Amino acid sequence: MTVRLDEKLEPIYQDVLRRNPGENEFHQAVHEVLETLGPVLVKYPELAEHKVIQRICEPERQIIFRVPWQDDQGEIHINRAFRVEFNSALGPYKGGMRFHPSVYLGIIKFLGFEQIFKNALTDLPIGGGKGGSDFDPKGKSDDEIMRFCQSLMTELYRHLGEYTDVPAGDIGVGQREVGYLFGQYKRITNRYESGVFTGKGLDWGGSRARKEATGYGTVFFVQEMLKARKESLEGKTCIVSGSGNVAIYAIEKAEQLGAKVIACSDSSGIIVDEKGIDLKLVKRIKEVERRRISAYAEERKGAKYVEDGNIWGVPCDVALPCATQNELNGKDAKKLVEQGCTTVAEGANMPCTPEAIRVFQDASIAYGPGKAANAGGVATSALEMQQNASRDFWTFQYTEKRLEEIMVNIHRNCYETADEFGAPGNYVVGANITGFLKVSKAMVAMGLI
Ligand code: NDP
Repeated sequence: MTVRLDEKLEPIYQDVLRRNPGENEFHQAVHEVLETLGPVLVKYPELAEHKVIQRICEPERQIIFRVPWQDDQGEIHINRAFRVEFNSALGPYKGGMRFHPSVYLGIIKFLGFEQIFKNALTDLPIGGGKGGSDFDPKGKSDDEIMRFCQSLMTELYRHLGEYTDVPAGDIGVGQREVGYLFGQYKRITNRYESGVFTGKGLDWGGSRARKEATGYGTVFFVQEMLKARKESLEGKTCIVSGSGNVAIYAIEKAEQLGAKVIACSDSSGIIVDEKGIDLKLVKRIKEVERRRISAYAEERKGAKYVEDGNIWGVPCDVALPCATQNELNGKDAKKLVEQGCTTVAEGANMPCTPEAIRVFQDASIAYGPGKAANAGGVATSALEMQQNASRDFWTFQYTEKRLEEIMVNIHRNCYETADEFGAPGNYVVGANITGFLKVSKAMVAMGLI
């Protein structure tokens, strides 16, 4: 059952449905934001007159292009790629590139739309955008990945620039892919424009703590939610879905802060290790050898691998969905709550379905939406741009400290805004309204853009 929208907002949503047929994930992301904006229009009626919401729902620019490439046997393949430049009121478009066979315009638009508010929440000068391709990097050789990235950038480069649009990684795009993409950009433009891409390697313009930032930031956010309830992570049992970039560093920070992480996963199955996940082993399997997570159980005594298992059935205090959109549904949420889970924070983008979010909110557990909880990644990307602009290279400790301060600040702003708008403890309301007001005010100030 969907929540009814305010009478001023329902026609806007109907228009979004009409203008963007078949893009279910985009509809879901827009609906989730509109559900919370009713009280904002009461307090700031001028935003309705300026049609700010209608403008925010329409990307400033959408680019769709063909990516032809050749595999190692010489066979030609054609993929489709996207870059949605959603909103530049606060700075250059900023958001990652995703390579996954499920990618289509609706996925990139939902991610780009969320990115606008997330980036606003960081208080750093970055607008919102997102891109990607339906290319599947799984099972491809390094050379194939390189040829694909070079072909993609041969088209995309003309739309990028450190003051225009600055991509980064996401699912299927890590440092290897960023290297090939950045290398091709540099070659075509004849410019060493470090600030045009983030998530770069440490030897060529990357920032320390960027790789760790999304996962660490999510756990810093959890720490703040728990503090607000006079609790801490010490001694808590956690489960983390996924075993990619975000999941690995969420596990690392949770363990550093005294939690015991007992489960993680990939798209084939789940690992349960009651002794606590051996992160060194996960990193070797996933980051170095690029194998499936099932390999963990082959090497670790006492660990269990369940093919196609449902991680949300594992009892825990804290659940961190860090894999992909809509991976946790209403039934999963009920199970988590029944089994004693008190805290959920989204390392991934939109991993909880609207039904799951309602279950968490009805049970009054601490629930941190991705826009706020995983904003540490893009925030540290903005810190990478800052270092690039000043030709500087900060220490790990300093960068991590900045990240933690940013997450504390995001938490405080969301918490206070939720209170101000009559929804204490509701971080969805807090995050959406804080982000929306910042972007809207900039848009109004800049005239009809
Ligand atoms: P990675 O590609 O590094 O890892 C993704 C992980 O999720 C893999 O373990 C993958 O398993 C798993 N996964 C993907 N699809 C599914 C599925 N349908 N069911 C179960 N597991 C699945 O990506 P990231 O860690 O970078 O991104 C994860 C999430 O975090 C995404 O939602 C992304 O948008 C979000 N995010 C990422 C940021 C970043 O800085 N990287 C910043 C903010 C948000 P498999 O290998 O089997 O596919």
